[in-house]
Amino acid sequence: MNVSTLQTCFNIREPFCIIAGPCSAESSRQVIETARKLRNIPFVKVFRAGIWKPRTHPSDFEGVGARGLAWMKKVREETGLLPAIEVARPVHVEQALKNNIDILWIGARTTVNPFLVQEISEALAGTDVTVMVKNPLNPDLGTWVGAMERLNKNGIRKIVAIHRGFSFFRRSPFRNAPMWEIPIELKRLYAKLPVIVDPSHICGKKDLLVKVSQRAIDLEMDGLMIETHIHPSQAKTDREQQITPEALKRLVSRLVFREKQLRKDFREKPAQLRTEIDKLDWELLDILSRRMEIVKEIGVYKKENNITILQIKRWREIIENRLMNGKNLGLEKAFLQKLLEIVHDESIRVQTRIINNEEREQ
Ligand code: PEP
Ligand code: MN
Repeated sequence: MNVSTLQTCFNIREPFCIIAGPCSAESSRQVIETARKLRNIPFVKVFRAGIWKPRTHPSDFEGVGARGLAWMKKVREETGLLPAIEVARPVHVEQALKNNIDILWIGARTTVNPFLVQEISEALAGTDVTVMVKNPLNPDLGTWVGAMERLNKNGIRKIVAIHRGFSFFRRSPFRNAPMWEIPIELKRLYAKLPVIVDPSHICGKKDLLVKVSQRAIDLEMDGLMIETHIHPSQAKTDREQQITPEALKRLVSRLVFREKQLRKDFREKPAQLRTEIDKLDWELLDILSRRMEIVKEIGVYKKENNITILQIKRWREIIENRLMNGKNLGLEKAFLQKLLEIVHDESIRVQTRIINNEEREQ
């Protein structure tokens, strides 16, 4: 995505935005009662509800369909909250546009499919609606960005990314692993793009919601999407993760908004510390570069003497020894292990190039 082409004018970005509402619209009463209870909660500006639901099994509740559009319009008329619904096909877009729905979102199962995203983007061409794009199910920043590029190419300017976590094969306390490095990289690449975090789909249950919401704020994300239902235990979809509007109000009151900019009187100390960090980072880079030079020398030796690149015994010794030393220095084991693996992978890559005569002239 060409940074300069991605203009967003998401007018609900400042100062922080909460999107709340049920996973699914179930009845006119459920929708309007939820919205009435949400309208006075701080930061809540958008009312979400899925009317077409992407479900795992064909016999599961698949949403109320187009009749829910009128309920969403009523929410705006009565409460002023902006309605948002999921669209997954051009026909959904057409019906949403006909009913003046303010905000549409593309779900994780759709973002992953360029054909569908293309069709949706074409159906949206020439309109001024805000489109929120959830990350794809798999941890692939390229596909996420690609979906936003398609919308952008079709003239959509008000684009928002929604981070809802990624399917993950390892055991994890989350329904969808947050992998914060991915939304952080997205924000680094596209400074103007608002990124909203969806703790409901990340957590999959209620008890981690506050923690993940606070993490999102601490990482300077632009808002939250939190599923809210007047009777969560009776919800037709995502029952475990929905909370009542009252619980959302309590959650919001517990959030801590820290200052993004350091106040003048506090600037000096962090500035000193940052200078020290800069210096240490330079030393770290210098050490890494010197380590790599030695790795190359060993590579040349291995090549001349026809020795295998990976020597498992030596690698095991390195890991054990470094982890023990790291522990004495107060470093976290998991962190150090990850770091050693990255350095080791790079060493193997460098030596493989040498052995295969691919080493470029420097
Ligand atoms: C939803 O928001 O209810 C939903 C289906 O989300 P996702 O696409 O993130 O799974
Ligand atoms: Mn849901």
